[in-house]
Amino acid sequence: MTDDAASDGPAERQMRFLFALRSRGVTDTRVLTAMERIDRGAFVRGLFAERAYEDMPLPISCGQTISQPSVVGLMTQALNVQPRDTVLEVGTGSGYQAAILSQLARRVYTVDRHRRLVREAQDVFRAMGLVNITAFTADGSHGLPEQAPFDRIIVTAAAEDPPSPLLAQLKLGGIMVLPVGQSDTVQSLIKVTRLESGYDYEELRPVRFVPLVEGLGTE
Ligand code: SAH
Repeated sequence: MTDDAASDGPAERQMRFLFALRSRGVTDTRVLTAMERIDRGAFVRGLFAERAYEDMPLPISCGQTISQPSVVGLMTQALNVQPRDTVLEVGTGSGYQAAILSQLARRVYTVDRHRRLVREAQDVFRAMGLVNITAFTADGSHGLPEQAPFDRIIVTAAAEDPPSPLLAQLKLGGIMVLPVGQSDTVQSLIKVTRLESGYDYEELRPVRFVPLVEGLGTE
């Protein structure tokens, strides 16, 4: 952090945060407005809280990470969420991405394999009055069959390939954004659109996410 950033008041900090998002390609006004409303500082605890407004991933509980804000913005932008949409997020983590989606969609379901992360995220959603988010502890690689199908699906952990239950739970015309890759270091963000004739795949950019792991966590 520069001395400048350290001496910022909330208004300057917010301007700097939004400027960094824009300069990294987050240009959709609705996404920027949602990110302006949701305070990332509420989702980062302890030692790293003071770095919440920097464009970097940060550690959260259970050895996981809250994604870099510009990546959250670019993924949200690619998802092209509409006001009446029902969205599934796999990988609640801190809850930050779900909170942003809650500003854009009618209803957000989010799942994480770590019970502790789900509980902590629910506390923040409650404190912020975000009543259109439902968070579950579940292995999201199976999707959420009882709430399916979804208009939009976002996965914030990397699998080798798009999990087939998630593809199946996407509505016709629906969009899924997810990182895929064979290793922890080389992954691509892809956008999948479900068409009548099948699925269209578009590669967006290289990214680096924690892996999608099967089964529930111990914490
Ligand atoms: N979207 C989060 C960042 C997620 S980090 C945020 O905004 O903070 C990736 C998350 O995916 C981790 O919390 C990890 O526990 C979760 N995860 C990994 N594999 C999973 C699976 N099979 N089902 C559900 N969650 C999973």
